[in-house]
Amino acid sequence: MPINIACPKCFKGGAVPDEYAGKKVKCPACKTPFQVFSPNPESKTVAAAATVEQATRLASDRKKPLTARDYIVLLGVGGALIGVIFLLGALLGWKWIIAIFKAAIQIFH
Ligand SMILES: [Zn+2]
Repeated sequence: MPINIACPKCFKGGAVPDEYAGKKVKCPACKTPFQVFSPNPESKTVAAAATVEQATRLASDRKKPLTARDYIVLLGVGGALIGVIFLLGALLGWKWIIAIFKAAIQIFH
Protein backbone atom coordinates (compact mmCIF):
# COMPACT_ATOMS: atom_id res chain seq x y z
CA MET A 1 0.00 0.00 0.00
CA PRO A 2 1.60 3.33 -1.00
CA ILE A 3 2.13 5.96 1.67
CA ASN A 4 0.51 9.34 1.09
CA ILE A 5 2.93 12.19 1.67
CA ALA A 6 2.77 15.96 1.54
CA CYS A 7 5.64 18.40 1.26
CA PRO A 8 5.92 20.42 4.51
CA LYS A 9 7.01 23.51 2.55
CA CYS A 10 4.79 23.76 -0.53
CA PHE A 11 2.16 21.18 0.58
CA LYS A 12 2.34 19.36 -2.73
CA GLY A 13 0.93 15.88 -2.14
CA GLY A 14 2.02 12.57 -3.54
CA ALA A 15 2.45 8.88 -2.77
CA VAL A 16 5.55 6.72 -2.33
CA PRO A 17 5.92 2.92 -1.98
CA ASP A 18 6.01 1.32 1.49
CA GLU A 19 9.80 0.93 1.39
CA TYR A 20 10.18 4.70 1.78
CA ALA A 21 8.75 4.68 5.31
CA GLY A 22 11.22 6.46 7.61
CA LYS A 23 13.40 7.55 4.67
CA LYS A 24 14.05 11.02 3.34
CA VAL A 25 12.61 12.09 0.02
CA LYS A 26 12.90 15.29 -1.96
CA CYS A 27 9.83 17.25 -2.99
CA PRO A 28 9.65 17.12 -6.82
CA ALA A 29 8.28 20.67 -6.93
CA CYS A 30 10.44 22.68 -4.50
CA LYS A 31 13.26 20.17 -3.77
CA THR A 32 12.74 20.34 0.00
CA PRO A 33 13.98 17.14 1.65
CA PHE A 34 11.59 15.64 4.22
CA GLN A 35 11.04 12.36 6.00
CA VAL A 36 8.33 9.87 5.02
CA PHE A 37 6.50 8.72 8.14
CA SER A 38 5.12 5.24 8.34
CA PRO A 39 1.33 5.67 8.33
CA ASN A 40 0.56 2.52 10.34
CA PRO A 41 0.91 3.53 14.01
CA GLU A 42 -0.86 6.82 13.31
CA SER A 43 -3.81 5.27 11.52
CA LYS A 44 -4.23 2.78 14.37
CA THR A 45 -4.28 5.65 16.84
CA VAL A 46 -6.93 7.39 14.75
CA ALA A 47 -8.94 4.15 14.65
CA ALA A 48 -8.67 3.81 18.43
CA ALA A 49 -9.75 7.43 18.93
CA ALA A 50 -12.71 6.91 16.58
CA THR A 51 -13.67 3.76 18.49
CA VAL A 52 -13.56 5.58 21.83
CA GLU A 53 -15.66 8.38 20.35
CA GLN A 54 -18.20 5.90 18.99
CA ALA A 55 -18.49 4.12 22.35
CA THR A 56 -18.78 7.43 24.22
CA ARG A 57 -21.49 8.65 21.87
CA LEU A 58 -23.37 5.38 22.17
CA ALA A 59 -23.22 5.53 25.96
CA SER A 60 -24.01 9.23 26.45
CA ASP A 61 -26.31 10.38 23.60
CA ARG A 62 -29.01 7.92 24.52
CA LYS A 63 -32.07 8.71 26.57
CA LYS A 64 -33.53 5.18 26.70
CA PRO A 65 -31.89 2.61 28.95
CA LEU A 66 -29.38 0.37 27.19
CA THR A 67 -30.77 -2.77 25.63
CA ALA A 68 -29.02 -6.15 25.52
CA ARG A 69 -28.00 -5.39 21.92
CA ASP A 70 -26.31 -2.14 23.00
CA TYR A 71 -24.28 -4.02 25.61
CA ILE A 72 -23.15 -6.48 22.93
CA VAL A 73 -22.11 -3.55 20.68
CA LEU A 74 -20.25 -1.91 23.59
CA LEU A 75 -18.53 -5.18 24.45
CA GLY A 76 -17.48 -5.56 20.81
CA VAL A 77 -16.17 -2.00 20.67
CA GLY A 78 -14.35 -2.50 23.98
CA GLY A 79 -12.82 -5.74 22.78
CA ALA A 80 -11.66 -4.16 19.52
CA LEU A 81 -10.21 -1.23 21.47
CA ILE A 82 -8.28 -3.52 23.82
CA GLY A 83 -6.96 -5.39 20.77
CA VAL A 84 -5.77 -2.12 19.20
CA ILE A 85 -4.19 -1.03 22.50
CA PHE A 86 -2.28 -4.29 22.86
CA LEU A 87 -1.17 -4.15 19.23
CA LEU A 88 0.05 -0.58 19.74
CA GLY A 89 1.72 -1.58 22.99
CA ALA A 90 3.60 -4.34 21.23
CA LEU A 91 4.52 -2.06 18.32
CA LEU A 92 5.51 1.12 20.11
CA GLY A 93 6.08 0.19 23.73
CA TRP A 94 3.79 1.03 26.62
CA LYS A 95 5.45 4.37 27.35
CA TRP A 96 3.99 5.67 24.08
CA ILE A 97 0.56 4.22 24.74
CA ILE A 98 0.33 6.02 28.09
CA ALA A 99 1.41 9.27 26.38
CA ILE A 100 -1.20 8.79 23.61
CA PHE A 101 -3.90 8.10 26.18
CA LYS A 102 -3.04 11.20 28.17
CA ALA A 103 -3.29 13.21 24.93
CA ALA A 104 -6.55 11.49 23.95
CA ILE A 105 -8.11 12.22 27.36
CA GLN A 106 -7.24 15.90 26.94
CA ILE A 107 -8.88 15.93 23.48
CA PHE A 108 -12.07 14.33 24.72
CA HIS A 109 -12.44 16.62 27.73
ZN1 LIG B 1 7.60 21.12 -1.96
